[in-house]
Amino acid sequence: MMRDAYATFLECARRVCHALSKCYACRGSLRRVFLAYHGVASIVVWVFGARLSLLLFALLTLPRLGCIAFALIWPTPDPSFAEGKGMESFIQPTASGELLSGTFGAVRSGGTRFHEGIDLKPYLPLTRKGEATDPVYAAMGGTVEHLSSVAGRSSYGRYVVLSHIVDGVELYTLYAHLASVSGLIKPGQYVDAGTLLGVMGRSASGYSIPKDRAHLHFEVGLRFGDDFDSWYGRQKFSSPNYHGNSNGMNLCGFDPLAFFEAYRQGKIANMATYIRSMPTAYVLRVNIAQVPGIVRRSPGLLGAELPAEGVAAWDIAYTWYGLPKQFTPLRATDLGPSDKPGLIRLRAVDREQVGANRCRNTVRMKNGKPAIYSDTMSSLEMMFGMKISP
Ligand SMILES: [Zn+2]
Repeated sequence: MMRDAYATFLECARRVCHALSKCYACRGSLRRVFLAYHGVASIVVWVFGARLSLLLFALLTLPRLGCIAFALIWPTPDPSFAEGKGMESFIQPTASGELLSGTFGAVRSGGTRFHEGIDLKPYLPLTRKGEATDPVYAAMGGTVEHLSSVAGRSSYGRYVVLSHIVDGVELYTLYAHLASVSGLIKPGQYVDAGTLLGVMGRSASGYSIPKDRAHLHFEVGLRFGDDFDSWYGRQKFSSPNYHGNSNGMNLCGFDPLAFFEAYRQGKIANMATYIRSMPTAYVLRVNIAQVPGIVRRSPGLLGAELPAEGVAAWDIAYTWYGLPKQFTPLRATDLGPSDKPGLIRLRAVDREQVGANRCRNTVRMKNGKPAIYSDTMSSLEMMFGMKISP
């Protein structure tokens, strides 16, 4: 009995040390603390017995774990970012050669085309035929949502999507253009941070990525809807949806590099706060008396408690590229005379951010006035699972 508990304890300590050795924010000092605990705790177990020792270990350790909400690791073996090297060491630009084209945002075609993730170049030696060999790892512990092993079914090529619950927010991470997907992972399976997901490559559909531009396209963000198939079915697309809720249209990424940087600097005390404090570009008043699935999955994005008498409408705050970062529920008494059921209107706009938007059909300036564009309406339909007229 005691030996079992001790073995469990040792395994836990080993796992924590292993996770910390991969954790940028805590690499070094905390790992040493854990190793020291491990040594001291082993003696305590021997002297006092397993139960008391486990209790002591928990009391001593848990308060220090506050700084580690989750383990985040770089999704390839490239140590450049961890070593503080510049982007040129790890970002793969497009054929333009402009470094920023491999980063997140309005970085392509002169700022008119959006890139929803970062492109990471190979680090390990190429094969004799010039193909990438880098393994691709899960950036955080999470559940395998989707594996797409047929390159021709998406512009992502072969790709894997994981979901992660962190501080009341459901995040997704996405790994695209893989040469192959690991045969050891299955949808629904939980994987630890650092689990092998596949091999870096250049698979894609609708265009081809040359050998010298092989890369991992990595995304992190929020998923809009829970019934994407229904939304997809209402559109007039010519091909079927092979990807369920993990279709790229149902996903909205935020800047992975800023995320890694904030994590490295220990600035992500809480994932929900991190997302909700991203710059607000516009707020929509959405007169729909229903709690959307994204709020149920990510209650951390609520801007206020759900009213006991039920929700009459929402104020949803967005980033300029359309990430719905905060949902504030409203009571019937909060609404004005212009708030009719089903009506969607702009409640607040940061003209500087919206005015600079030249590549996303979220909210843009039209004849000098801010206007709601099609991507915003589509994402609302995905989130609320219904047809919404503008
Ligand atoms: Zn990319």
